[in-house]
Amino acid sequence: MLEGTADIIVIGGGLVGAAAAYGLAGKGLDVLMLDEGDDAFRAARGNFGLVWVQTKGFGLQRYQEWSQESADLYAGFAGELEDLTGIDIHHERPGGAILCLGDAEWEAQTRLNEAMAAQGGGYHARMVERAELERMAPGVRFGQEVVGASFSEKDGHCGPLYLLRALHAGFTARGGRYRSGAAVRDIRRGFRVETDAGAFEAPKVLLAAGNGIPPLAGRVGLNVPTAPERGQVLVTERVEPFLPMPMGNIRQTAEGTVMIGATQETVGFDTGTTLEAARGLARRAIRVLPALERMRLVRSWAALRVIPPDRCPIYDESESHPGAFVATMHSGVTLAAVHAARLPDWIAEGRAPDGFGAFSARRFDVPAAA
Ligand SMILES: Cc1cc2nc3c(=O)[nH]c(=O)nc-3n(C[C@H](O)[C@H](O)[C@H](O)COP(=O)(O)OP(=O)(O)OC[C@H]3O[C@@H](n4cnc5c(N)ncnc54)[C@H](O)[C@@H]3O)c2cc1C
Repeated sequence: MLEGTADIIVIGGGLVGAAAAYGLAGKGLDVLMLDEGDDAFRAARGNFGLVWVQTKGFGLQRYQEWSQESADLYAGFAGELEDLTGIDIHHERPGGAILCLGDAEWEAQTRLNEAMAAQGGGYHARMVERAELERMAPGVRFGQEVVGASFSEKDGHCGPLYLLRALHAGFTARGGRYRSGAAVRDIRRGFRVETDAGAFEAPKVLLAAGNGIPPLAGRVGLNVPTAPERGQVLVTERVEPFLPMPMGNIRQTAEGTVMIGATQETVGFDTGTTLEAARGLARRAIRVLPALERMRLVRSWAALRVIPPDRCPIYDESESHPGAFVATMHSGVTLAAVHAARLPDWIAEGRAPDGFGAFSARRFDVPAAA
């Protein structure tokens, strides 16, 4: 039975779908966002909250530029969301450091920064030795093995659950319609979207369902070869503010808790947590910041990243089914600002950002051997 129609249907109400839907609704379009609900795998509800630029896009310079653009838009984006919804997403941009334990990590990070710089585009991360790091983070006692860090002033963080709430609230405030419990099972030409809550029709559809995309993509002639990757995260009790910036995989939230993350595990669709991973994360964190040893861990969780083969985003419009779009990637927090600002022009008006073709999944097509 036909439940409703819209100008565009966004499939997935996670960070990617909600950011695009929020931007599309801002153009005055009638947008319907469909989401499966609590039983689905939802990276948006289990991530680390970094708005992170350094080291992004090794091998795909356009991704480095796209991440920088998003990070540059973030303060305005956060302010706009707060004005519209009253929700503070706790965005801060104090810079960020990737700490190096020992000379081997320092050298590997130095080589990566040099390779990123050689790609062009004014790469900004630089290596800072321990003494400089200590000046940048007064009062922080680093572990003996910390020799320095890669630092970028472009990096920052936010509260990702506040971000998701604000995007949903902003979308609704702009007249968007949201249906939960509407797992999409099929998409037919036209487009007719069959869900657990009935059928919906629209001339355009955006596939933004994270790890739920691959089974749907072929229905509209898209190739989306992403795979889930488990990330386990630990969080401590609340403590007085002591970390002035996110240190890669350790960050202090606006509430005072310290997040420690995250593993990278290929275990399929499994969101279980393991003692072994918790031990590994905690041990390394204490080597980096010994003060963590005195803080109580209060929770751990796991969530699934959405990982394309080269870890860079995929944005495509279907050639066989024009009007069917896909947007999927790791880094949905970092890219939320640019998604809200730029995807609507592409989807609604066919004005793709410059160089956007670099993100097509056609980059994975391997020419047949001669
Ligand atoms: C441990 C961890 C740490 C991370 N840290 C960071 C970070 O620090 N910075 C950063 O930028 N990114 C980070 N990420 C990545 C970020 O969370 C994801 O890129 C982002 O959430 C992806 O958004 P998404 O909307 O594509 O997918 P999701 O957030 O997973 O949302 C997908 C949505 O689609 C819905 N859905 C699925 N299938 C269907 C269907 N068939 N029909 C209807 N709805 C469906 C689900 O209910 C869900 O709401 C992290 C991820 C993890 C797991």
